[in-house]
Formats: sequence, C-alpha cells, structure tokens
Amino acid sequence: MTKTLLPLAAALCLAAPLSAQSQADAPGGHVDLAVAASEALENDTLAWDFVEGLTTEVGPRQAGTEAERRGREWAMDWLRAHGFANVASEPFAMDTWVPGDVWKARITAPFAQELIVQPLGNSAATAEGGIEGEVVFFPSVDDLRAAPAGSLAGKIAYVSHQMRPAMDGSHYGFAGPARWVGAGIAASKGAVATVIKAVGTDHHRNPHTGGTSFPEGVDPIPAAAMSVPDAENLERMFERAEGRPITLRLELNPRRIGTTMSGNVVGEIVGRKPDLPPVLLACHIDSWWNAPGAFDDGAGCGIITAAALNVARTGTPLRTIRVLMAGAEETGLWGSKAYSEAHIDEPIAVGLESDFGADRIWRFESNFRRTNPGLHTKLAKAVARFGVADSAVVATGGADLNIVRDQEGALIDLQQDGTRYFDLHHTPDDTLDKIDPAQLRQNVAVWTQVVGILANEPRAIRDAGTVPSAPAIMDR
Ligand code: ZN
Ligand code: ZN
Repeated sequence: MTKTLLPLAAALCLAAPLSAQSQADAPGGHVDLAVAASEALENDTLAWDFVEGLTTEVGPRQAGTEAERRGREWAMDWLRAHGFANVASEPFAMDTWVPGDVWKARITAPFAQELIVQPLGNSAATAEGGIEGEVVFFPSVDDLRAAPAGSLAGKIAYVSHQMRPAMDGSHYGFAGPARWVGAGIAASKGAVATVIKAVGTDHHRNPHTGGTSFPEGVDPIPAAAMSVPDAENLERMFERAEGRPITLRLELNPRRIGTTMSGNVVGEIVGRKPDLPPVLLACHIDSWWNAPGAFDDGAGCGIITAAALNVARTGTPLRTIRVLMAGAEETGLWGSKAYSEAHIDEPIAVGLESDFGADRIWRFESNFRRTNPGLHTKLAKAVARFGVADSAVVATGGADLNIVRDQEGALIDLQQDGTRYFDLHHTPDDTLDKIDPAQLRQNVAVWTQVVGILANEPRAIRDAGTVPSAPAIMDR
C-alpha cells in the first residue's frame, strides 16, 4: 500500500538541531526532555510495539465482548511489563450489540445483482431470508428529513452524500449525520430498513460501519452501510431505471445480547507530588468487530503510553501521568462516561487524547491560549521543530475526555493529519500495515515533548491566574 512519507520528511527538515546545552543530561543523570523527544522521533519502538502486539495477539475488540476483555488484559499486561504503576481495570456494565454474520444486499429488479454491505451499530435484524422493498433515493439527510410523515411505509430509504478527505477530517461533520441519524429519521417515517452510502473517502468495496441511533419511541430498523463503489453503482441504477422501481432484498442478523461487562484500563507514572491533579492521556481500547483497529485506536494507545514512558526517562515528573484506555468508545462512549461518573470529584490538570490514526501531528490547539498564554506559547514553540503549527482553534478534547469537559478543565488537541483516516475508518482495512512507522514516531516525539512540559508544570494549567490579551494569531 502507499505510505504517506512526504509530510514527515517536511517535519524532519524543520526539526532544528538541539543546542549543545539541551543535549546535556538533566540533573540526576536523566535524559533531557528535548533530547528524549528527539530520540523518539529517530528511534521510538514503544508505540509500534504496543499497536503491533495488540493487533497481532488480540485483533478486533468489539465493545462489551470477550474480545474486548482480552484486549483489556493484553493492555494491562503491557503496561505492567513496561513499569506503569496502579494498573487496573475499572469495570462497567453496558447494553451490548453484536453484528451477527449475515450481511447481504441484493438488487432484485431491474438490474439484479449483489451489493456489499455491513450493518451499522444498533441496527435491528431483518427476518431470516431478508426483507424486500422499493428503494427511495435521498441525496442527503436533509432531503430525508423533508420527506412527508408516513411516506416511507414499507420502503427502504437510501441516503447518499459524498464524504471528501480533509486534513482536519472536517467533512465528517457533513457526511456523518447520514450514519448517525439517517436510520432513525427513516424509521420515524415508516421505512422498513435504511441503507447509506458508507461514510468514508476510499473507493474500495469496504463498507464503513459505525454507530447509528434511534430516537426515543422509535423502534430500531435494519440499517446498513454500503461500500462507496456499490453505492455509486446503485445511484447509476436510478439514472438508468427510467422510472421503474428499484427493489432491494436486505438480510442482516445483528442482535442485542443484553447487559455485559466492559471496562476502562488505567495505569500511572506516579509523580513526585501525587496530590497535584494528574495529566490525563486518553485513547480507546475497543474497535469495531470488522478490523483489528490499528488506526482506530490501537495506535493512539501506543502513542500515549510511549510518551508517558519517554517522559519517565527524563526523571520522575512533578505530576502523575495517568493513561486511560477507555472501553466501549465506538458504541456510545460508555467508558468515557463511566470514567467521568466514577472520578468526577478528582480534578484533572489537563486532558489529551489520541484517536485519529497515526499520521503526523500538524497543529497544536489548547483551550487556555487566552487564560494561560505563557504556557500555551511555551508548548507551541516546543513542538514547532517537529513541524507542528500553533493555532487559535480552541481545543475541545476527544471522545474519551468526558471527565475533563465535565470539570471544565484544560484540554489540548494535538491534531493529526487525517487526510487518509476516513479511507480506513471502521473498515476491514484498518490494519497494522497502514501505519507509517516514521509518522508514528513523530506523534510520539510531539507527545513526549508536550506531556513532559505539562507533567512538570507546577501552576494551574487552564488558568494560571492572569488573563492578558491573547497572542497575535489569526482567529479562524
Ligand atoms: Zn476511535
Ligand atoms: Zn472509531
């Protein structure tokens, strides 16, 4: 497969040589932080070891299942073997959906042929043998919303859209609703099933799964994602059908298996002052059933653990660094919510999450640029040498940082290049070979630098007590 090496080459060119002074060991014989970060860029193997091991020894880790439990145990073993303290699983109960193993879509008229689909999370099952209906074409979710009440009775709604790649993944906000709410809207108008064009940017016969939801009082209906090429084929059929109805037989057998246990994995590098609020580094340990989840989110868990260990090499940090590998993110942020509920009274100094693949970090964002501009600028300057730009965008944190948002605490987003993220996202193609080791190491270098500064910051991070005017950066 194609590796995206050029952006990293640019980052390497931007990495200025370290001064003679910064190359000296820090007091106590430990490695200087800037040196540790630079060494991570050159030769970190920890993040790769984590994601390679997890994807090889465990594989797919569907939330609430035995496979996710094996992922949790594998991660705890890895953390203990690498010297993390207070490694534990914090269990929580969840309502669990599993995909089944029959996912068939067949156009029965006028151009009979099989098309490739996979169920969306929370999809209902069809009757055995499938359900057949006329397909009603909606170019967008807004068109579906505009359909009259009851107009889809007995029909199958098809929702198109076309997701485009973007470095910041922003088109997910445009195309995502087809998956997030399309089936619920169609069900409320009487549809017997929904098929969407997969929310993804590739042109392979890989449907992108992901969660959908149904409004209160609306019974779930069968809901599937169709691979982008198959969806385009279906759309061409509408052009050629000359008004004849297009009928589809859909067969899916996902099911709800009731309440099962999931859990969050935590581990710590204990700081010199453990009573200070910790720095929280988050990722999620679950994946969809259809892939080993290398990009989403094995890599993220590898990046944050590698960074924590690299910071430990520079000496015991002032603050504790806590890693949180959330369970059951994909099916509704169960782990993130459970963690916040259990720990809401324990203040977090700052939260960061890695959950957008393994391509290079290109932008630094915080939510304290105005309230603590000194620290914001110090952090942004420290990672500029890795090709990371400062930004006025206000960080909002990732899905697994509910606790920090609930506490209205400090957040940093280290934005990764997401140009190809949605080629792989939630598809069977999310495999280890897609990770570019050089770009993975750049992630670890940036995280090491940032976490090392944060874990040794004695003052409050979101608000250091002064509110001077903001640095001159273009708002956008
Ligand atoms: Zn994810
Ligand atoms: Zn995901």
